Amino acid sequence: MADTARDAFADEAEGTVTIDEYIEGIEAQELEADLVLGGDDGKDCTYAGGYLKRQAVFSCLTCVPDGLAGVCTACSLACHDGHEIVELWTKRKFRCDCGNSKFGGHLCKLCPEKDSENPANSYNHNFKGSYCTCGRPYPDPEAKEQVEMIQCCICEDWFHEDHVGLNSIEEIPRDEEGEPLYEDFICHKCSPGCHFLKLYPDTIWASGKKNWAVQCDTNEPNMMIGGPSNHANTEKHENGALVGDTVGEKTSIENGSTKDIAVPESKLDSSSGSNCNLRMDVNTMPAPVVTEKSMPFFMSKGWRETLCRCEACTNFYAQRGIAYLVDKEDTIEEYEKIAKQKREKKLEQQEGAESNFLNSLNHVQKIEILSGINDMKNEFQSFLESFDSSKPVTSDDIRSVFENLAKKKKQRLS
Ligand SMILES: [Zn+2]
Ligand SMILES: [Zn+2]
Ligand SMILES: [Zn+2]
Ligand SMILES: [Zn+2]
Ligand SMILES: [Zn+2]
Ligand SMILES: [Zn+2]
Repeated sequence: MADTARDAFADEAEGTVTIDEYIEGIEAQELEADLVLGGDDGKDCTYAGGYLKRQAVFSCLTCVPDGLAGVCTACSLACHDGHEIVELWTKRKFRCDCGNSKFGGHLCKLCPEKDSENPANSYNHNFKGSYCTCGRPYPDPEAKEQVEMIQCCICEDWFHEDHVGLNSIEEIPRDEEGEPLYEDFICHKCSPGCHFLKLYPDTIWASGKKNWAVQCDTNEPNMMIGGPSNHANTEKHENGALVGDTVGEKTSIENGSTKDIAVPESKLDSSSGSNCNLRMDVNTMPAPVVTEKSMPFFMSKGWRETLCRCEACTNFYAQRGIAYLVDKEDTIEEYEKIAKQKREKKLEQQEGAESNFLNSLNHVQKIEILSGINDMKNEFQSFLESFDSSKPVTSDDIRSVFENLAKKKKQRLS
């Protein structure tokens, strides 16, 4: 009993960490950083790529105190080192501003040739370092406890969980472990503009413990996939009517064409909305009834694939400036998937580089390096074997490993 209590305290004591925790911590931090940076190695300014669908963006309050500019990862490192930087996580359709007219003569070291402004960039109050309806910074130096924040997929502002207009944060759909059961969050300011989502079946809403009506089986979230604009399964539609058994078909955006080729023109009457998953023209939908309090939306996993891609709906999205909702590359999921792929490639290359380095050495050099590595390995191995890895490592432990190594070296030299 006393032992357990002591161990618990040791683990919690500041600055003490077990080997397992340490390694896990480093890996988690690296992965987290790679996910936010989207696998961008942070070496080149992203300006040449134009308005990227999604990228990590930073604001420099030293250079642009009014927060009406943003820079890419590479620029935040190369051009604004030591400046007061606000990390904005990722933003869509943004082009690096570093060194343009907003920077008062502070030129970009990586890509100095830029237009004076990027007119399509938008800057919300996050760029000034304030977030949510409460306008507080993050982390908030005055808060006793940092409340988790969630990002709205429409306005991309961040909100404290207790400031999203819910009666209780218990209403946020989560599983028993507290992991989010929703893919996207639409804040209470943006939800009235997304009123059309109410025309879709319940499967697009994330279901939580409370407040969210009983939902359909989550294994079948895409009942409406396979709309007429989905070329993969047009044969299943007759006269534009939706056939129910199209679950599981994926819309392929990379494929380029969103037009049907298989279905004769006469069968698709776009003006009547008959080829629409909603079977109506969303543009003619009556305006939402204004209620006293608008509620945020929590969207289910894969909900965007359910959105109709017919001509009328596509125009509707474009008019409202939300066409990105039907672009797979806009999703955080896709962004992180690409980041993970790049990360794996990078790790493979690193391993490759290590073995290439060894192959380029002559035999004697190899032996010397390998015996050095082996000494190190053996020393750590015996240290780890003699050590309970659930116990904290102290600086004395590390020192003794290196002292033993030094002794061995001396033995070999003498
Ligand atoms: Zn840049
Ligand atoms: Zn700066
Ligand atoms: Zn720069
Ligand atoms: Zn807030
Ligand atoms: Zn919003
Ligand atoms: Zn439609």
